[in-house]
Amino acid sequence: MKVFKFGGASINSIERIYSVAAIIRSYEGDKIFIIISAMGKTTNALEKVTEAFFAGNKDEALQLFAEIKEVHNELAGQLNVASEASKLINDIYTEVEWLLHDKPVRDFDYYYDQIVCCGELLSTAMISCFLNSMQINNIWLDVRDILRTDDNFRDAGIDWAFTQQKVEEMVVPVFKTTNIILTQGFIGATDENESTTLGREGSDYSAAIFANMLNAESQTIWKDVEGVMNADPKKFNDAVFISHLSFNEVIEMAYYGAQVIHPKTIKPLENKNIPLHVRCFLNPALPGTIISEQPVHHLPPIIVVKENQVLMEMRSKDFSFIGETGISSLYKLFAEIKIGPNITQSGAISLLCSFDDRAEKIEKLALAASELFEVTVEKDISLLTIRHYNKAILQQMVNEKNIVLEQKTKETIQVLMKNG
Ligand code: ASP
Ligand code: MG
Repeated sequence: MKVFKFGGASINSIERIYSVAAIIRSYEGDKIFIIISAMGKTTNALEKVTEAFFAGNKDEALQLFAEIKEVHNELAGQLNVASEASKLINDIYTEVEWLLHDKPVRDFDYYYDQIVCCGELLSTAMISCFLNSMQINNIWLDVRDILRTDDNFRDAGIDWAFTQQKVEEMVVPVFKTTNIILTQGFIGATDENESTTLGREGSDYSAAIFANMLNAESQTIWKDVEGVMNADPKKFNDAVFISHLSFNEVIEMAYYGAQVIHPKTIKPLENKNIPLHVRCFLNPALPGTIISEQPVHHLPPIIVVKENQVLMEMRSKDFSFIGETGISSLYKLFAEIKIGPNITQSGAISLLCSFDDRAEKIEKLALAASELFEVTVEKDISLLTIRHYNKAILQQMVNEKNIVLEQKTKETIQVLMKNG
């Protein structure tokens, strides 16, 4: 059994959806569990809907949602599935529109998940019907009936035991009647049937969870690039392709912000020693990158930039040492607010941390920490990480930048830089 994941870019046009169908058809006879993302930039568009709704701009939210519907209706028409998929699609629309008519009374993150989850439901409903119409017989599942999470909205944690049990009950038997199961990435549900999401780009992680639970022989992430590169090719012209990588390397790259793979993807695969292939849906003849437990030597410098960081300094108010007591009280706050620092440095009386700029959480943290410490927050920061660095690459990357913090080990250098 194989697990495939197709991202939003692989289904953002009719031609691409035909290519996806051709790829799936070429595996005829294999059992494949397929995870699909929302179409193109739908998730971004749904984020805008959520923002408008949460700001109390109901009409704007409904208007933005109507635009998303139009794009999906048009695609359903082009794929000739408008009638077969219509019941499912209309149910999904209705669920969101009902919510948009309410007034927000809960946290932003809760609404985000209830609204944004529809991107994956819509894309998979249409593609499942389309594949069936092409005689690529498959069964569509609502992953929210299977993938159980906690209620940490926008970054939900998996209930592994419950989900595994559902996989045995609701997925394994279905493979007796079909070779292809198709479902959504990125989303899940709580025990109260609230929708949740696993963090942006979380479909890779969803695929890994199912690969693990189904004991898949491999997982393949189909992308619009040749495979994994040593830097983001959209930002660096001279990025080079890497054919083999270890789980270890990739977990570091992804954690520090490499867009190639969601950082949580590696653990479920590593735990069961399931190789991860990153391949190009535009050219399935290319071998792509293979990521496995095998260590890989002589890698080029790997460059990762994580934007939208805030630098927070927490300094003791009375000149007492920050020490283990101060630091542990701060880490307790991080855990309560569920926000993890990306880089930290402690001094005699202060702790410096960079965090992803999640405004609500940063505000909460700054407020709570200021009861004990003097807190300052600086925005517009980027975190640059270079693995396997050398002098030349360092010079090229940090030249003339406004550096606010730098940390080095033998293998990795990290630099926080003020933008602008
Ligand atoms: N659709 C979601 C996103 O754009 C999840 C994913 O694509 O993996 O972040
Ligand atoms: Mg994506």
